[in-house]
Amino acid sequence: MRRLPLLLVLCIPGACRNVPTEADAVAWRESQRAQQSSAPAPAPLAAAPSGIFKHAGPGVAPGGSGPARFALLAYEAFDADRALQLAEYVDRFWREPGNDGYEAVIARLQEELRGMHFGEEPGRTLQLIETPMSEPAWTPLSGRLALLGKDGERVLHAFDAPEGRDRLMLPKNAPSAKVEGRIALSLETLEAGRILVVEGHAGSKLLEDARARGAACVLSASLESFNTDKSGKERHLDAIQYQSVRAGTQLPVGQISRRSLQAIRDAFAADPEVRLSFQAAVKTEPRPLHTLVATIVGGLHPETAVALAAHVQEPGACDNASGVATQLEALRALVVGIDSGRIAPPDGSLCFVWGLEMRQSSVLLEQGGRKILAAVVGDMTGESREATGAMPLLERPPDPGSIKALPPDEHTEWGASEQDPKFDQASGIALVARVALHDTALAAGGWETKEHPFEGGSDHQVFLAAGIPAVLFWHFTDFTYHTSLDRMEMLDASEMRRCGTAMISCAMALADAHPSDLERYLSSLRLEVRLRVDAAKQAGEEALAKRWAEWEPLERQWLRRLCLGEKAGALPAPTPTKK
Ligand SMILES: [Zn+2]
Repeated sequence: MRRLPLLLVLCIPGACRNVPTEADAVAWRESQRAQQSSAPAPAPLAAAPSGIFKHAGPGVAPGGSGPARFALLAYEAFDADRALQLAEYVDRFWREPGNDGYEAVIARLQEELRGMHFGEEPGRTLQLIETPMSEPAWTPLSGRLALLGKDGERVLHAFDAPEGRDRLMLPKNAPSAKVEGRIALSLETLEAGRILVVEGHAGSKLLEDARARGAACVLSASLESFNTDKSGKERHLDAIQYQSVRAGTQLPVGQISRRSLQAIRDAFAADPEVRLSFQAAVKTEPRPLHTLVATIVGGLHPETAVALAAHVQEPGACDNASGVATQLEALRALVVGIDSGRIAPPDGSLCFVWGLEMRQSSVLLEQGGRKILAAVVGDMTGESREATGAMPLLERPPDPGSIKALPPDEHTEWGASEQDPKFDQASGIALVARVALHDTALAAGGWETKEHPFEGGSDHQVFLAAGIPAVLFWHFTDFTYHTSLDRMEMLDASEMRRCGTAMISCAMALADAHPSDLERYLSSLRLEVRLRVDAAKQAGEEALAKRWAEWEPLERQWLRRLCLGEKAGALPAPTPTKK
């Protein structure tokens, strides 16, 4: 074993730095690694031909280090058909915390993981963590809404199986019901015993007012503006929005499509005596919440881990059957690589989590038993661009871009959140994730991607709140988002393969950083900072340009620590430049 030469350091006040140089540290870590790993390193990838990596964001320095060490191998091993089959299984159910569908998916994931020997060997652990739930698990069983006119009955929405297309006609926590009544199209004209039908969201205030006036039931045709089908095909007219009401709600409630709203309005205009019949059957029971954690135990630092999280609950194929399946198949690709000896087991651990959005991350942090150093979150990872119009996106943690988004940054329709970047939370995780997008584009033979400043709304927020760097891989604007249209035909298996490759390459680069990764990261960082500072100056935002310039050394130091460990020491003083 080669040892670090002892450094003779002259201590000058204000310039004392008794740490090894970067070159020493690189040599030291490489010599350590050479003794630990006999797995052959994959051949480095060449620079991306232009047009392969079409990313609305900073460029990436080419190279075979960092995520490139895993991207091609992961891409080759990722079985898109298998991911699609799992997504199909998950999509069969409307998953809500602890309900029948949620439990079925957790059981299937456990079975898949046991097939990869999780829970059977010390290097692959499996935890099913049980925590209490404050509300009972809610499972929808059936629903039916029909117009009863002079000409007979016209069914507007119905389902009687878990996979039913109209299952979202019941908001989450809706009670069982069987009612029939005349129609009221506004709260003002509502008389006792009538069924109130509104276009907007039926919030708790409206439900309370309707209940007080004796409504038999409230039906809402709510949709968000971003649900409008921009293709001109008007598919959103058949969308039923995914909604929820408070647990314990007694008043019968339902969701309807805009087309059904129009049918009800037309029928009422023709005959004010027309009636509606509404039926719902649901099951509620107290159950615990299950969070599933599969861990590839690190060879050098088993006690620290990079987390990957995909939430199980919600009723969509893209959101988030695709994330669940993408993460499982990405893990399988990694396992294939490790078992074949083509990928060395990581230095640090990787924890793959499936459970209830946000809560699963808290459960991992509190009960997972490992120190989480970074997190890679996959939510809505399988959108077909052709079917939904949604772009693959990388969401960065708060950085100076959060103060003001300047080109090429732009916020999604989800919208910015008020997040002033805290300088003590500067990290290079978004840069590593961007490099992973680049290396995946190369492995896949092309990929068009975008990135944007922090917006929040998924598990990355929980990790960031705990001071842990985190990124989100997702897709937006998907006009089917949180509607009954988000089903299997909106999924693209090849997109799950690309997203899974990017996520696992990013996570492995973080859990298994090498000193030789650093140079490429720092070159990429220079590309980003130059772009951001120039954009700020062009926009006349001098203060923002300064923030980015100040951010650069902090991110640089984070990347140095990632790649060099403790040997990174303090950040070297900037090299003097000739005036
Ligand atoms: Zn989601």
